[in-house]
Amino acid sequence: MATDLRLPTNKIVRPDKDRFLNEENPFEAMMSRFDRAAELLDLEPGIYKVLRHPEKQVTVSIPVMMDNGEVEVFTGHRVQYNTARGPAKGGIRFDMNVSLEEVKALAAWMAWKCAVVNLPFGGGKGGVVCDPLKMSVGELERVTRRYTAGIIQMLGPDRDVPAPDVNTNERVMAWVMDTYSMHVGQTTTAVVTGKPVEMGGSLGRREATGRGCMFVTREALKQLGMPVQGTTVAVQGFGNVGSIAAELLSQLGCTIVGISDRTGGYYNKKGIDIPAAIAHVKQHRSLEGFKGGDAISNEELLELEVDVLLPAALENVITSKNAPKIRAKIICEGANGPTTAGADSILAERGIFVIPDILANAGGVTVSYFEWVQDRGGYFWDEKTVNQRLEQIMVQSFEAVLALSKQHKVDMRTAAYMLSISRVATVHKLRGIYA
Ligand code: NAD
Repeated sequence: MATDLRLPTNKIVRPDKDRFLNEENPFEAMMSRFDRAAELLDLEPGIYKVLRHPEKQVTVSIPVMMDNGEVEVFTGHRVQYNTARGPAKGGIRFDMNVSLEEVKALAAWMAWKCAVVNLPFGGGKGGVVCDPLKMSVGELERVTRRYTAGIIQMLGPDRDVPAPDVNTNERVMAWVMDTYSMHVGQTTTAVVTGKPVEMGGSLGRREATGRGCMFVTREALKQLGMPVQGTTVAVQGFGNVGSIAAELLSQLGCTIVGISDRTGGYYNKKGIDIPAAIAHVKQHRSLEGFKGGDAISNEELLELEVDVLLPAALENVITSKNAPKIRAKIICEGANGPTTAGADSILAERGIFVIPDILANAGGVTVSYFEWVQDRGGYFWDEKTVNQRLEQIMVQSFEAVLALSKQHKVDMRTAAYMLSISRVATVHKLRGIYA
């Protein structure tokens, strides 16, 4: 925070406020946090206006020949929210709930997230409205390639670097990389991260987001004077983030008493056998039919009496409705935006320590950054080095946010936004407005 961003008489202006829908609108929910931090920073109105607008939003129609011989047309989006600090960085999700508003919010989140862990990236995000569970591998590949071709001008190692997100994985990233490479006429591994290790991916990337959640949860336990051994944890979502976080936290000595996915949840007071649950999902593609605990609903899982609640599925699952019933002492936000703005104050009043998404799940983008660095340098690190450097960044970032939250007497989320906004704003101020 070297450059002073304060102007004595400034008031925050909100020229675009009315364009957005309501509190549950994901972009507005994220921006209400942004506004609070901007106000506390006394952010200059010009910079505020710049940071409140996405740089570029593209929507493409994606015609695809389905296996039955019929043409289907899907809709895809890519948003580059801010690239002041470096190339846009952010995942691609395939989901029926994808909307431009959601992609825009997720792209902004990425801008703040990269800044909170001090990576030289801006924020971007993409998504295709589709149901990958109902599609064949061939259909998925064709959707991926045509979507990539549709947004090809936006992409590039120095422009915009996608990664996996909900319902996309290393296989999908390999297709994106191949499609891009075919268009530019040379193999360009650094155009995406989260690739298979055999083709320029980084060791430790697959586990990085869950591992990062484990590191910050461990730091929060330390901060609250709670022993790791025997700490009870409930995890919502048992995909990449949730299952790895559950596995690593149980290896650390925590007892994972609840897990869930889109098919429902399971509770076991003595602790769920996480490797068995992971094996079940590998075989059946979901937790449905898992025998290692009593069946509970996703709502019940969120309200379990546990030390740590780790939402790692979708947005808006902790709202003003269920926040009064949450009994966890720590919430580690593995997912992006699991808590609505309305729930924030209720959780704060109840003394629940929230590790905000932009910090808690930044492990993935941190190792994505390592992957991009390795691809560009053509020299690859061993897994131990990756994990050690990840730990260093996550712990340092946790400490930086904690220190700011104590200094300004604000919750961890506000402090995280203050740290990242001040970093992005500083670069804007240094670069000036091009015209
Ligand atoms: P994933 O597709 O691997 O897993 C998602 C999980 O959530 C699945 O188990 C799914 O069944 C479950 N789920 C879906 N709808 C649900 C519902 N209504 N109720 C309960 N569970 C439900 O996705 P992921 O990569 O693990 O991502 C999860 C969250 O973490 C997303 O919010 C994503 O944006 C965020 N995130 C992911 C990464 C990453 O590196 N993968 C990085 C940062 C943030």
